[in-house]
Amino acid sequence: MTTESEHTFETNRSAAADHMRRFVERPLPHFIAGQATPSRSGQTFTNRSPIDGEPLGEIALGGAADIDAAASAAADAFGSWRAMSGTERKRMLHRVADLIEERAHQIAVTECVDTGQTMRFMSAAALRGAANVRFFADRAPSAADGQSLPSEHHINYTTRTPIGPVGVITPWNTPFMLSTWKIAPALAAGCTVVHKPAEWSPLTAHLLAEIANDAGLPDGVLNVVHGMGEQAGKSLTEHPAIRAIAFVGESATGSAIQAQGAATLKRVHFELGGKNPVVVFADADLDRAAAAVVFMIYSLNGERCTSSSRVLIQESIYDAFTQRIAKLMRRVPVGHPLDPAAVIGPLIHPRHHEKVCSYLAIAAEEGADVVTGEPYADAPAGGSWVTPTLFTNATNDMRIAQEEIFGPVLTAIPFATEADAIRIANDVDYGLAGYLWTGDVGRAHRVANALDAGMIWVNSQNVRHLPTPFGGTKASGIGRDGGDWSFDFYMETKNISVALDTHLIPSLANE
Ligand code: NAD
Repeated sequence: MTTESEHTFETNRSAAADHMRRFVERPLPHFIAGQATPSRSGQTFTNRSPIDGEPLGEIALGGAADIDAAASAAADAFGSWRAMSGTERKRMLHRVADLIEERAHQIAVTECVDTGQTMRFMSAAALRGAANVRFFADRAPSAADGQSLPSEHHINYTTRTPIGPVGVITPWNTPFMLSTWKIAPALAAGCTVVHKPAEWSPLTAHLLAEIANDAGLPDGVLNVVHGMGEQAGKSLTEHPAIRAIAFVGESATGSAIQAQGAATLKRVHFELGGKNPVVVFADADLDRAAAAVVFMIYSLNGERCTSSSRVLIQESIYDAFTQRIAKLMRRVPVGHPLDPAAVIGPLIHPRHHEKVCSYLAIAAEEGADVVTGEPYADAPAGGSWVTPTLFTNATNDMRIAQEEIFGPVLTAIPFATEADAIRIANDVDYGLAGYLWTGDVGRAHRVANALDAGMIWVNSQNVRHLPTPFGGTKASGIGRDGGDWSFDFYMETKNISVALDTHLIPSLANE
């Protein structure tokens, strides 16, 4: 077996040519009740590569009838899947993880060609997908465990049961990894799933369904329906058999889903957008801070919900620190996603490319300075190529400081005092993540507590520990997942209260 470090641009290209052929040869179907299934309507849509805009094949265009078939399959499979022992679900999910590892290179190259994300990150993301599945597999046997809450006359105890068939709706930025993060806990809890992947990155969802099938998951436990958000996605959120929706995507889509799910009282978990601050105090280790700032905005094409897209820098070091970031940024290589040396690849889609690039003109109009990195000299025509960008001399009221750009674009804002930093950091609609750099331990705790965000990293880039809660405040989401929080979302908690003695029962009847 070739290890990841032994793959070259050429071996990746040749693997991609092999793996992508099947997608071009025939339309990619849905996966319903264990079967590859075309759309009921027979319609398809064209999937294109962000590298050169060339078609990667046709994809089944799902609608209400396909969602209904998938939801029915998930409902039919639910009874026996929930009844299966946690130990057996654990065994099957470990098998899924084994197969992800076996096919990790295929998953990674497919993801690169489909999304434009580079191999450097997608090879790790594929393996992280396996790690996600293993993490929740190991917890399947204890998912139903509850608490003992005794009172004077009763023993109270809680248990958890899977909520039912659930819908999982995912975005295009790191589709495979994110899908496993949402789907694995649902399956471990005993729920069955209908997955609606993003229409701009549909391919690896099919690989996951194939893997689940090969691992022996019963028919209907994991179903995939492709298509547009406003059709397939909307139908999924409205379907009466679907008990909950786990959604990752834009804040505006979250609002729409909440409205769509209201009639059927859907439980929702939302992981939405971000405009995350990284606050750099003058007393920080500035070498490490600069490396982390650059990593957290220019990795994953900046198409990352937890990217630190606003850097707040103390005035006394503002000029020197922005120059240091600019110097590092100019050395971040843009290149072909299959080239192991490339960091930034093309953005997902021409529409997203247009949105990201529009902020260069907006920044100039707003009076910020625009610094750009090195473009990719060999960029194929027709692709959505960008260069890393830094906006300096920005203020927090500018659109470049308030709106989620979701590209390799960083806005640098000066601040004077700790109180200023906190005010500016919190003065956005979002509250997903916050990062802060300081050498003062008291300040680290003060600022971490004052930042209005779901996740704070102190003197660190985003390093995920899977048992910890993931999610945001304000427009960045509703609820948390990770560790046991995922089971709380996918399961119902029941309290059982048993009398221990002949305690007083008030009599209402006249003697
Ligand atoms: P999006 O909201 O446009 O689409 C996400 C998914 O929702 C897609 O599958 C889409 O088809 C579907 N959808 C769209 N309209 C729908 C509707 N009315 N009903 C049901 N489903 C619908 O998001 P995107 O552009 O694919 O992804 C980028 C966004 O995702 C960014 O805002 C980013 O911050 C966010 N994101 C958040 C996290 C997080 O954990 N907080 C992680 C990754 C991405």
